[in-house]
Amino acid sequence: MITLLTGGTGGVKLLLGLCQLLPQRELCVIVNTAEDLWLPHGHFSPDVDTVLYALAGILDESRWYGIRGDTYTTHRRLKELGCEEYLRIGDLDRATHIVRGELLRRGFTLEEATRRMAERMGIEAQVLPMSNQRVSTVIHTPRGRMNLQEWLVKHAAEPEVTGVSYEGGRTACGACVRALERSDAIIIGPSNPVTSIMPILRLENLAEVLRRRRHRAVAVSPLVRGRPFSGPADVLMRAARIPPESESIARLYREYCGTFVVDSGEAGFEVPGMRLLRTSTLMQTREQMRGLAGYLLEVLGVETP
Ligand code: GDP
Repeated sequence: MITLLTGGTGGVKLLLGLCQLLPQRELCVIVNTAEDLWLPHGHFSPDVDTVLYALAGILDESRWYGIRGDTYTTHRRLKELGCEEYLRIGDLDRATHIVRGELLRRGFTLEEATRRMAERMGIEAQVLPMSNQRVSTVIHTPRGRMNLQEWLVKHAAEPEVTGVSYEGGRTACGACVRALERSDAIIIGPSNPVTSIMPILRLENLAEVLRRRRHRAVAVSPLVRGRPFSGPADVLMRAARIPPESESIARLYREYCGTFVVDSGEAGFEVPGMRLLRTSTLMQTREQMRGLAGYLLEVLGVETP
């Protein structure tokens, strides 16, 4: 089994590559939940939703969130009725949040709710929210502290980010720890280090297994030719006092993985105790996604059927 640690875009492109090479039942995905929010209609778990929709084959791949072909009737009506609705949520997507919220209110854990929903969507891969505890990434700005969606969407990423911090539980789901223990290989996806990967690595029991199994783990830089391919990784890295370069990401992950892959458009560097590899990491097409996934499996010594 292969376990992937991911947020909702770069890591998910890699997941779609892995799905072209391995049966879904051989994949486990540990997903960031530090962007989760309770909204008036239910529980929003943006990265988990993107992973579920990708595995179910219904993801809107033009945006890397939401459901392909979704409609916005409820969103429009809510706005007409004076609701703030700063997130533009589709009707089908909203149903996911309603069901998750209902399951959580009935006492299911996030892990159980996710398993149920994955089954309903015909997904065979194991999808694990990183934690059943509430965890949040907090964006600090001169206009106050806010969650990532508020900063990125409501305020259009305009307020200067003066810092980033994490709040909430520090324990991963037991299933995440078990999956990492028995995985043949572990991949840290090319996701935003500050908002997607660091919240996962902050979970103490999960970090402990990764440290022990770092020889089986490879990470991919989310920077393509030295820059984020999409999203605000550079702005948030600077705010977190991490220079926005692959080398600093490699140093950040050094405890947790023995191999780090950077884009071939980047200059090489050395990090003691880490093997550095270079290949094309751009994933704009299915072939590129499969190509990078195949390269990583080869590096990890995993045979494909
Ligand atoms: P989020 O939860 O939507 O922010 O998604 P992730 O954290 O999983 O992914 C965001 C990161 O993916 C950004 O920092 C991008 O630079 C990176 N990314 C997006 N597309 C690609 C790609 O094709 N190749 C690589 N290497 N990184 C990518």
